[in-house]
Amino acid sequence: MKELHHFINGKKVQGQSGHFGNVYNPATGEIQAKVPYASIDEMNMAVVGAVKAQKSWSSINPQKRGRVMMEFVRLLHQNMEPLAEALSREHGKTIPDARGDIQRGLEVVEFCIGAPHLLKGEYTDSAGGGIDMYSMRQPLGVVAGITPFNFPAMIPMWKFAPAIACGNAFILKPSERDPSVPLMLAELMIEAGLPEGVLQVVNGDKVAVDTILNHPEIKAVGFVGSTPIAEYIYTNASKFGKRVQCFGGAKNHMIVMPDADLDQAADALVGSGYGAAGERCMAISVAVPVGESTADKLIAKLIPKIETLKVGPYTAGEDMDFGPLVTKDAQQRVLGLVQSGIDQGADLVVDGRDFQLQGYEDGFFVGPHLFDRVTPDMDIYKEEIFGPVLSSVRAQTYEEALNLTKQNPYGNGTAIFTRDGDTARDFAHSVNIGMVGINVPIPVPLAYHTFGGWKKSGFGDLNQHGPDAFRFYTRTKTVTSRWPSGIKEGAILNFPTIN
Ligand code: NAD
Repeated sequence: MKELHHFINGKKVQGQSGHFGNVYNPATGEIQAKVPYASIDEMNMAVVGAVKAQKSWSSINPQKRGRVMMEFVRLLHQNMEPLAEALSREHGKTIPDARGDIQRGLEVVEFCIGAPHLLKGEYTDSAGGGIDMYSMRQPLGVVAGITPFNFPAMIPMWKFAPAIACGNAFILKPSERDPSVPLMLAELMIEAGLPEGVLQVVNGDKVAVDTILNHPEIKAVGFVGSTPIAEYIYTNASKFGKRVQCFGGAKNHMIVMPDADLDQAADALVGSGYGAAGERCMAISVAVPVGESTADKLIAKLIPKIETLKVGPYTAGEDMDFGPLVTKDAQQRVLGLVQSGIDQGADLVVDGRDFQLQGYEDGFFVGPHLFDRVTPDMDIYKEEIFGPVLSSVRAQTYEEALNLTKQNPYGNGTAIFTRDGDTARDFAHSVNIGMVGINVPIPVPLAYHTFGGWKKSGFGDLNQHGPDAFRFYTRTKTVTSRWPSGIKEGAILNFPTIN
């Protein structure tokens, strides 16, 4: 059995705790590796290395730190295929989707090449007589990220790239379900020129996480995962005086107005509802057609598109639409929720329960499902299903659809499909959700904007990536200075450079 490792002080380090988790191949159901779970001592050792490395890393000028990011981008492109293959093998998503996972992380690394510009401070000349005032952004020290299984390349990069570009050292505790890609990324960062110890990957479970939360040398924690754990980490890390941002689960609604292009809306729902088997925090899981006639036409268009989706292992070719769920538990949970939908009276108009794939009977596959006439009291509406299950909740008016979306406890993403600018504008303005799409189903902002949900989808201050990340991973120091008139230097004729 393959045994995975930690990556500490620039080297692969075998686990010492004697505790391991299973890493599955979700397509076959086989255990393909064991991942070590760090003890408190192992986590502490990684923090000691990070504290030491951070001191010299933060004194390197931001332009040189940006150059490490530049080389890392080149290496990501060069290693795209082995990274995508490792990602699909542990997560189960298709290879094109795995490439997308890496690409959306890579784009944040590209943004971080601009660290010199993003870390520039503010300056007021002559704030008083002979007095100047300036503010600078300084790194926090050692910071940590705890990341989920569903984007094992993108989310670690969203966290460590800005943190490191700002001059921090970073402890990454990736998901125990698909840890290979984060380990590969750390190796590539060393190859790109990052000094040892600046990026430590420590695998583990709650013991590793709790050690991060308690550790006095860890100054900030960024988390992405389910809402109950986001709340736990937010509360506990704050209690220990850390800066914290935690991004949680979602239930994303897409309103379909009577004037929408229904073919476009149906394609958007299929792509965003079933892509990655629904295991995306920005997946649309609730369609809200407005008016009975819109709903009937939309359902009629959705059924054949959903029934013909190709479900299979990533090895079956790039035209697969989606793969298995990540674990047997996830598969059983989703099928349990489907049963609850039937029991509570929703109309199951596409039934994927009998899905079978010859040769992959032990894989964690779930066929696509579509429920119509779902109501807000049903568990399939209340729970984040995180599987290939789309629910349609019929609304009679725009106001009813808007209120449904607003009253939902989650606030990650939402979308409206319409041809009417006035309705779209009103929706974008009034909805209480962090990311909004207008005729765009998965409105994940690009790297130079920021990503973050509201309500139970986000806890703490500031968003991920974009300018907010540079604020989150630095603190501001403001200096007021007065200099007496002094000796002037002679002329310097050489073109000045920074070394
Ligand atoms: P998860 O909460 O189970 O795990 C996330 C991380 O927390 C992992 O590293 C895990 O090891 C750790 N963890 C799990 N249980 C813990 C505990 N009891 N104590 C301490 N640490 C613990 O989430 P997941 O299943 O890996 O990911 C799926 C979830 O993440 C979904 O709810 C999805 O919506 C959400 N998500 C949100 C965003 C966002 O930006 N809002 C992005 C991606 C995923």
